[in-house]
Amino acid sequence: MENQYDVVFIGSGPGGYTGAIRATQLGYKVALVEKYSTLGGTCTNVGCIPAKALLDSTEHFHQAREQFKTHGINFSGELSLDFTQFITRKNGVVSQNTAGLIYLMKKNKIDVYQGLGSFIDKTHLKVNSDGKESLLTGKYFVIATGSKPSSIPGVNIDKKRIITSTESLSLPAQPKSMIIIGGGVIGVELASVYARIGTNVTIIEYTDSLIPTMDRELGKALSKSLAKLNIKILLSSKVQSAANSGGHATVSYLDKDGKIVEITADYCLVAVGRRAYTDSLNLQAAGVEIAKNGKVVVNKQLQTNVPNIYAIGDVIEGPMLAHKAEDEGTFVAEVINGQKPHINYKLIPGVVYTWPEVAAVGATEEELKEQGIEYRSGKFPYSASARARASMDTDGFVKVLVSPKYGEVLGVHIIGPRAADVIAQSVVAMEYEVTAEGMFRISYAHPTYSEALKDAYLMASGQGAINI
Ligand code: FAD
Ligand code: NAD
Repeated sequence: MENQYDVVFIGSGPGGYTGAIRATQLGYKVALVEKYSTLGGTCTNVGCIPAKALLDSTEHFHQAREQFKTHGINFSGELSLDFTQFITRKNGVVSQNTAGLIYLMKKNKIDVYQGLGSFIDKTHLKVNSDGKESLLTGKYFVIATGSKPSSIPGVNIDKKRIITSTESLSLPAQPKSMIIIGGGVIGVELASVYARIGTNVTIIEYTDSLIPTMDRELGKALSKSLAKLNIKILLSSKVQSAANSGGHATVSYLDKDGKIVEITADYCLVAVGRRAYTDSLNLQAAGVEIAKNGKVVVNKQLQTNVPNIYAIGDVIEGPMLAHKAEDEGTFVAEVINGQKPHINYKLIPGVVYTWPEVAAVGATEEELKEQGIEYRSGKFPYSASARARASMDTDGFVKVLVSPKYGEVLGVHIIGPRAADVIAQSVVAMEYEVTAEGMFRISYAHPTYSEALKDAYLMASGQGAINI
């Protein structure tokens, strides 16, 4: 009787914990199952939060070294990084967040089971923790088991010299050199972390652009900014193998001219994407269908082929983003409750936390061209922004893509200071169909980074920029 629940969430990442809270708010008896001893999943423990903590620390260090003098700030003695303290502070940030989640679970009266969940059938889940077993009965189950780093043929991740993002967030000492396979989001964020503190970083990217799924102009501009950190960027280069060569990592790749090149570094970080994680769930026992790419198959209601079992977050199709998982957690709780919630998958913003930051929502120029959709582009550089000049953050631009007929905003692409926060306004504009004119006629505080948007909207509407 005790272990009977209305809804059981398996996995305590942003999808699982958000969904569990929403389900209790709707009056359900809820259990949350997590195999690790801390809650929060990838994002809180080994993803978004620790990565941002290290990015912030290293940006301070970089500014102290490169920019303080220009501001007139001098300090005596040599600037140095206490690597142990750098990692300790990050661990502290993670602990604050995981402690916050324990508090939230208690406050919302959610029963947390620590252990590996595996289905017995479609209404029963076994939770195994160090040999101790609990049996949970659920009217509904939500699979929120997330993702794990993936690899490529010839690359054997040994977690010692050939590492993933997880190990890279807790290295024992500052590496002198690091090769990063993959110039996607993880690749460029962690390249920034290490290059800013003086590690010799090389990114090897298979396509001809960094962050290749975003608007191509963003990748180009980001390459220029990262090159200023002395990051070596090898595009159109395909990694063939990576191996621990005893105290070093040796990587061989096919360069853009088709020549095989071998390089070594202290570490090789593999950042070539992540795979849906359903190992040990025993989905066959419940009869849940998985696609060839390992993702759990769901319909528009996020319901699997087994009607009482839903799935959300990284384990299903769509961008592997924490806010997408959170939105789906809320969505699924409301669907179970008989409501008709809505997620606009076209308007989920994507952010890269380099400096300058990169943020985008909606269609890229490449997508519009491919689909034959007419558009007008308005592009305003941060070098022309008074706010950006005041903070010496003049790299980057705001680009808005607008339909010439009605002024509908089709896409917004930003590389610049605080782009991650500036993009929010454009999500509102697109979701509620505010036109480009509507966007340039509202008031923007001066001087702010968001003013660059106003100018870009003006330019896309055929008018000249009026701010500095
Ligand atoms: P997860 O967060 O992966 O959580 C799944 C949980 O399920 C895990 O805790 C796992 O232990 C548990 N689990 C799995 N199987 C079982 C089982 N059988 N029984 C019990 N528990 C189980 N996204 C952003 O939006 N912004 C960012 O800045 C960002 N930065 C990132 C940085 C890095 C280095 C990485 C790796 C990822 C980053 N992401 C970021 C992506 C983000 O972390 C994921 O999209 C997000 O965590 C997905 O949430 P989820 O709830 O689907 O799954
Ligand atoms: P990704 O898909 O963003 O990038 C992987 C990159 O590796 C691609 O550019 C791809 O072309 C390249 N690649 C693939 N095979 C290669 C090879 N053989 N040689 C060289 N390059 C190769 O994946 P990721 O960076 O590992 O990130 C995984 C997920 O985590 C992403 O889906 C992302 O959304 C999420 N994440 C998000 C954030 C954020 O929101 N700020 C931060 C980190 C991670």
